[in-house]
Amino acid sequence: MNGLILGPGPSLDPLRRTLDGFLEGVDRPALAASDPVALVHPYSDPGDQEVAGLLVAMLAYGRVASIRDRAQAALSVLGPRPSQAIADPEARQTLAGFVYRFQKGQDLPRFLAALAHLRAEHGSLGAAFLAGDPGGSTDYAPAMGAFAGALSSAAGRRLSYGLRFLIPDAQKGGAAKRLCLYLRWMIRPKDGVDLGTWSALGLSVEPSRLVIPLDTHIHRIGRYLGLTDRASPNLETAQEITRALARLAPTDPLRYDLALCHLGISGRCPKRRDPVKCEGCPIRAVCRLGDEPPDWPFGE
Ligand code: SF4
Repeated sequence: MNGLILGPGPSLDPLRRTLDGFLEGVDRPALAASDPVALVHPYSDPGDQEVAGLLVAMLAYGRVASIRDRAQAALSVLGPRPSQAIADPEARQTLAGFVYRFQKGQDLPRFLAALAHLRAEHGSLGAAFLAGDPGGSTDYAPAMGAFAGALSSAAGRRLSYGLRFLIPDAQKGGAAKRLCLYLRWMIRPKDGVDLGTWSALGLSVEPSRLVIPLDTHIHRIGRYLGLTDRASPNLETAQEITRALARLAPTDPLRYDLALCHLGISGRCPKRRDPVKCEGCPIRAVCRLGDEPPDWPFGE
């Protein structure tokens, strides 16, 4: 197998050219409409966006249809101003007994109480997140750990499994994909998919420090593209893929994330090489599983 693009030397132009061309051909509004982020788009107030966004992102596991169904059900209960609703204990209790896979009973009311606590303390979830950023790190991984810790503390003692599941902690070995996804929505500039919410709140955020939300599709395609050779779907792998993409787009490494992810979700990119599907693949020219082009610069 060819080497990673992370090594010094070879031109990155073929990869950048291919991925940029791929992005140009992507129907982003259509992708956005089919993505859980579409549930957050109806909210115009940044406070509502950050609350609705965190709720949707944390429920974003399992089948997409189920995610959308249950997240929409929870949002509907909270009404048109979720940031106000979660500050009201009675309104939070209307979600007592909400069930989605691991969540049940008091999980959602307690989770929302934690969000309300952080917003009351810091003014916004964005400010709470940045308060835990120790600085000095090229990415937001340390701030993510601090944010998960703050949420966990605010949720109180004796957390149920379902409640702990809503608070991803990359320190425990995972990639904190749902938190990375939420941060992408909040921190990348508004582009019809991501929302730029925290900039709208006047917070100083840096898209260059985001970590890619690592799901099975990004992991697999990242390996195909030579962005990583790591087998474990953990935070280190997400960071390695992000660093590789940052060599293509230093100020906005996650610009390719949604399109690459949907290449996998849609089934267009199979788990094993499929000559028919690979033949029509828009990024085949730089895929280590597809046919390599003669000018592929990342060979051994
Ligand atoms: S060439 Fe085939 S394996 Fe490679 S990204 Fe495209 S569909 Fe996936």
